Amino acid sequence: MDFYTGRVLRVDLTSGSSRVEPLNMDWARLYIGGKGLLFRYLLDEVAPGLDSFSPQNPLMFFTGPFAGTGVSTCSRLVVGCKSPQTGTILDSYVGGSFAPELKFAGYDALTITGRAAAPTVVWIEDDVVELRSAQKYLGMEIAQLEEALRKDLGEQARFMSNGPAGENLLPWACLSTDQYHKAGRGGAGALMGAKNVKAVAVRGTGAVTVGDAKAFQADLYRIHEQYVFTPDNMWAHEEGTLAVADAVSMAGAMPTRNWSQGQFVGIDQINSAAFQKVRLKKRACSQCAIACRNFHVIGDARGEGPEFETVALCGANCGIDDAEALLRFNLACDDLGMDTISTGAVVGLAMDMTEKGIANFGLHFGEAEAYLTAPGLIARREGIGADLALGARALAAKHGCPELAVEVKNLELPGFDPRGAFGMSLAYATADRGGCHQRSSVMADEILSGNLPPDSLDGKAAVNIRSQNFIALKNSGIWCEFWALGLDEMRQLLRHVWKREPSDEELMKVGERAWNLSRIFNLRQEVESDTLPAKLVKESGAFTAGPSAHRFIGMERFLEGLAEYYRLRGWDERGVPTEAKLAELEIDIRA
Ligand code: SF4
Repeated sequence: MDFYTGRVLRVDLTSGSSRVEPLNMDWARLYIGGKGLLFRYLLDEVAPGLDSFSPQNPLMFFTGPFAGTGVSTCSRLVVGCKSPQTGTILDSYVGGSFAPELKFAGYDALTITGRAAAPTVVWIEDDVVELRSAQKYLGMEIAQLEEALRKDLGEQARFMSNGPAGENLLPWACLSTDQYHKAGRGGAGALMGAKNVKAVAVRGTGAVTVGDAKAFQADLYRIHEQYVFTPDNMWAHEEGTLAVADAVSMAGAMPTRNWSQGQFVGIDQINSAAFQKVRLKKRACSQCAIACRNFHVIGDARGEGPEFETVALCGANCGIDDAEALLRFNLACDDLGMDTISTGAVVGLAMDMTEKGIANFGLHFGEAEAYLTAPGLIARREGIGADLALGARALAAKHGCPELAVEVKNLELPGFDPRGAFGMSLAYATADRGGCHQRSSVMADEILSGNLPPDSLDGKAAVNIRSQNFIALKNSGIWCEFWALGLDEMRQLLRHVWKREPSDEELMKVGERAWNLSRIFNLRQEVESDTLPAKLVKESGAFTAGPSAHRFIGMERFLEGLAEYYRLRGWDERGVPTEAKLAELEIDIRA
């Protein structure tokens, strides 16, 4: 089968067995791969009301049709489940080189259910699947763990591994591959920890067939030549995500000191220019020509990152303008296997609570010493970490200050404050996995290109919908969000998979279909309604100084925007997809 292996590997940890089943090609034709296909499988296999930590909650790893074929940025993997952090559907994307290896081993997807009786490594070597003891790896951080696994399983093996945070079921524990690449948000590492799995390892010796290889290669070379090193993509190659830090702060949209300001005075110390001075080399995921990743060295602190979101939440939001401290904090989170957005948000909240005299965590804005101990304490739930590991919502509620937590559906918000970019209010409220910035790029129009006014919600429902559908399509490919390719280039590649020329409308429907699937999943799981923390919306929460001072959306206007969003989506006033919409999208499952 061209582009797909046509096989799904299923591992059941409780019985210790595995089996291979055919990939549902009817679904593959509707959803392509990645996000859409993952969501269709999750909808089929996660019962309404299932506990996220239940052994029945499947941990799924899906590739896209282009993984292992040489298409730039497509060697990405999506990890999915019912999120232990939010209770929503979860799709978390990661680069590195695991996805092509899984394809080379002969699988489009891997699902893991059940719970192992003892710590386990799932080892897949082509058709041979073994559950090995992970006893000797327990407690290991990611770099040490990967080194030990390579020694035991061979240099060519690739891993999705779990650090101490995942072992301790931290709700925002992530999964790691190639040391620095993270399936970051939503707690897939917590679910893997609950399954008693320390790592999944894979080695494949096969290949992916592409049909008419000559024609495919010709299109591939041309697309790479014409669409990779363009002005739309060079920012990613030259600077990576740090490129946006100055603009976000200048727009008054930078979460600063636990979301109490929108501009960070110390941004010059931790922005792209600051980190370029200490950049040692560029890095890339497997088969990616863009190479957006940066390896930094400050003293004996060496490693990839920080990305923009880490600068925002672990830097500005904690009042930290010390690049070395920020790099060390980032590396600690990476090695412990925990999402930096949630970690920075929780540490910033604890600083705020300490300074307001609500609780004393010994953490203060801008002070690096105690800040640097926080990731280890949180990951191991020791000392103040036992409290901080609750997450922002539960931590603030426990201490009687719920208004200080900034999250949506229990996912701490990332680095774009809606007070500086109004469209992000709808993006966060409606994002399928909770408060996420990677589901809509409306902020790019509002504060990067300046195409849309940042202080108005007019027309933003429609912009968000188109962006969500397009990104859902991209994530079904799975093309990286940092490659600014359009429908034309997607069509030129997908015609090799589908053996015909798809229309733009058909492509956009793939994304819309995936988005509606996630809505059905979340409705079936009775996920809480779409809303935002009041201070991001109401007049009383407006900043008193800075570029976005005195701006507020207003709750009434926000609710109008949400109602318009539901209407334009073809959903009813409660946000439930109508029969007509589901029929139009050929969706065969209901909320
Ligand atoms: S653009 Fe960056 S994150 Fe995306 S695939 Fe390439 S190296 Fe990986």
